[in-house]
Amino acid sequence: MPIDATLPYDTDNIFARILRNEIPARTVYEDDYALAFHDINPQAPTHILVIPKGAYVSWDDFSARANDAEIAGFVRAVGHVARAAGLVEPGYRLLANAGPDSHQEVPHLHVHVFAGRPLGPMLSKT
Ligand code: 5GP
Repeated sequence: MPIDATLPYDTDNIFARILRNEIPARTVYEDDYALAFHDINPQAPTHILVIPKGAYVSWDDFSARANDAEIAGFVRAVGHVARAAGLVEPGYRLLANAGPDSHQEVPHLHVHVFAGRPLGPMLSKT
């Protein structure tokens, strides 16, 4: 179900639990600011999620409340993940859902990294 991104941060959301090592994830990268792991239900041959380590519901929440070091660290981590996976030359797509119309399901900011095949038009027509 899409979540209400205006609600307070839920410390029991699935990505908070991954950050606390309470449930496993296939990690591809970690630093002080970010964790990246494979999506459990990949929508492309490469489908990686990059999340900030801080407690932020969405891009809106993160861009409003995170400090400059957190923002720089997170953005650099996304770029690092794509480069390390060899995605720069073939290309890749970044996507961050925020709020109900976007169909965001997990209320911890995450950037999807899709790659590995031609990804087609940006949005579904439906
Ligand atoms: P959203 O729709 O919120 O932008 O995307 C949430 C993503 O999280 C989905 O692509 C979904 O497959 C992924 N996801 C949900 N639960 C888990 C989980 O427990 N582990 C991993 N690795 N991914 C998950």
